[in-house]
Amino acid sequence: MKIGFVGLGNMGAGMCANLVRAGHDVRAFDLNTEAVQAAVSAGASGAADLAEVANGAEAIVTMLPAGKHVLSVYFGDEGIAANAANGTLFIDCSTISVDEAREAASKATSGGFLMVDAPVSGGTAAAEAGSLTFMVGGPETAFERAKPVLDIMGANVFHAGGAGNGQVAKIANNMLLGISMIGTCEAFNLAEKLGLDAQTFFDISSTASGQCWSMTKYCPSPGPVPAAPSNNDYQPGFAVAMMLKDLRLAQQAAGSIDASTPLGAQAEEIYARLDEDGFAGLDFSGVMRRVRGEI
Ligand code: NAD
Repeated sequence: MKIGFVGLGNMGAGMCANLVRAGHDVRAFDLNTEAVQAAVSAGASGAADLAEVANGAEAIVTMLPAGKHVLSVYFGDEGIAANAANGTLFIDCSTISVDEAREAASKATSGGFLMVDAPVSGGTAAAEAGSLTFMVGGPETAFERAKPVLDIMGANVFHAGGAGNGQVAKIANNMLLGISMIGTCEAFNLAEKLGLDAQTFFDISSTASGQCWSMTKYCPSPGPVPAAPSNNDYQPGFAVAMMLKDLRLAQQAAGSIDASTPLGAQAEEIYARLDEDGFAGLDFSGVMRRVRGEI
């Protein structure tokens, strides 16, 4: 299949390489020419611009920083919508706002294209290993066409409903993750300060009703989960800046429909303060250091 790929950064590079490895004819583009060169070394053909990416492509995957980049790559004067054939499938894997995803889908559909929003869960290691989780929004016909492509880059592909619902799943999940991480840090700090060591509290709580992913897979207190960033000086993993981006998208979406999310708002505030204080690159479980008063 002829696939265009735009956005060869931390995530896109590995995803693009997996499509090439699966035997697809991938034409890759990024504003950063070194990233294009790396994709070419991995077996893709390099494109000089978006028109070259779109020309002859049956599907075009985008993995870009934010909604404004996706909208301009899609609908800019020399963007892919101006150059792709009728019926081309647009697969946007970037994390962008629900509103922008729905705007992109509506414009793409009126232009004669099919589109899915397919944001991912999993970091660069999962992108390289082809084990991402995709949360997909869009009509059934678009989902069915996108699934074989997504299956190459991911281990789990969920159809979450209509346009924008992939982004809804992503931000609602990550809002819960941000809140549960802070709660887990508070619980460990409380237990430890009251004389219970982290391992004993983990052994009890991980089999009791406080159990959650933030504790059992990513424990913010060093010790109980050896592979967790807490045992590696809170190197990411999933950085504070990335968590903050998703919490902001969740708050923006909540505000637009008047959904009550006071804990989501507080999580955003806590991560925003860490970001402002120079800890944008710390793993998000590093909020433990703030709860402990170390930073
Ligand atoms: P990144 O900044 O490393 O990569 C983005 C790439 O897009 C860059 O190479 C940049 O040059 C390119 N780009 C920007 N504008 C462009 C344009 N107009 N035309 C062509 N290329 C353009 O970002 P990333 O870490 O790969 O993240 C990509 C998306 O995936 C983001 O939306 C992010 O929120 C999401 N995400 C990232 C992670 C992660 O762990 N990094 C995890 C889940 C989701």
